[in-house]
Amino acid sequence: MSSKGTHRVLVTDYAWPSLDIEREALGKIGAELAVAPTGQDEELQGLAPEADAILTNWKLVSGKTIAKASKCVIVSRYGVGVDNIDVEAATAHGIVVTNVPDYCMDEVSTEAMALLLCGARRTMVYDLLVRAGGWDMRAGIPLPRLWGLTLGIIGFGRIGREVAPKAQAFGLRVIAYDPYIDQQEMVKKNVTPTDFDTLLRESDFITLHTPLTPETTKMIGEKALGKMKPTAWLINTARGGVVDTEALAVALQKGRIAGAGLDVMPQEPPAVNDPLRYLPNVIMTPHSAFYSEGSLQELQAKAVKRIVDVFAGKTPEHIINPAVLKQQNCRLNRR
Ligand code: NAD
Repeated sequence: MSSKGTHRVLVTDYAWPSLDIEREALGKIGAELAVAPTGQDEELQGLAPEADAILTNWKLVSGKTIAKASKCVIVSRYGVGVDNIDVEAATAHGIVVTNVPDYCMDEVSTEAMALLLCGARRTMVYDLLVRAGGWDMRAGIPLPRLWGLTLGIIGFGRIGREVAPKAQAFGLRVIAYDPYIDQQEMVKKNVTPTDFDTLLRESDFITLHTPLTPETTKMIGEKALGKMKPTAWLINTARGGVVDTEALAVALQKGRIAGAGLDVMPQEPPAVNDPLRYLPNVIMTPHSAFYSEGSLQELQAKAVKRIVDVFAGKTPEHIINPAVLKQQNCRLNRR
């Protein structure tokens, strides 16, 4: 049990070996962790009244749990999406909800480059050939020189802009399409701003880094694929729904584009009979781009820092429901 006055942080669930990072950060300010045994909704409702803060990964933080969390000031999500948290209920009770949108930019941008390089150098084609007993470099040709080719980045946000210098180091000319940012952000990174159609037409590789929105859903469909070079590769480490994967499979089968590197699919895992799993010009990874031991440690450290900041009287970064700060019942302002 916590001693009187000690802040208590309820952890609903976590997916890594230990909570040492969280324990150390909270220990420094005399706060302690209480880990839910199963994270089931009713159990969390029972634990909620004792919580000054909630840390959650995937388990549901329901409206009922929030209603019972009468001391809770903040719900901090380990990760980007907050679909498992009843944000509306949190806002109604004056509780801030935070996330961590910036913990794996290095990993995802490197994954985009890894898929691009494997496609460019035909690494998978050769590897499969050698494993099957073959040894013939002609299996991968034609094999264009990478230096001087063009990479088009769609979505020049946190991850997209980390891809640019990595690609430039390999001699790629980088162009980008993102109508929602100051185009000078691209120019500063030696990237040429362009429109969607020009990017489709000019790129030898296209890498996707937009969120999934109504506007970006199936943004790369039959029409867009038809504008790409027949030698071009499409890389998707963003969200599966940005690509019409049925149209992509047809384009790849008919040689309308050269190949695809996919870390994300509209349905994960994709159906066992999805043709994209088996095409020789597709490289697929199981939504693993975000992961490294380092990125997880960063995730843990940033998620708990939001709570440490709140206990120290500061406004935490990355508040999902900023309107709550202006409400009379905002618990953060009452501290
Ligand atoms: P971000 O919000 O920092 O950047 C997204 C950018 O896309 C923004 O600059 C925005 O202006 C731009 N954008 C929005 N709509 C657009 C449109 N219609 N056309 C062109 N650009 C548009 O996001 P981020 O952190 O860089 O993440 C990018 C994507 O990567 C997201 O879909 C995210 O979910 C995904 N992601 C995947 C993994 C993984 O493991 N594969 C891990 C983390 C993030």
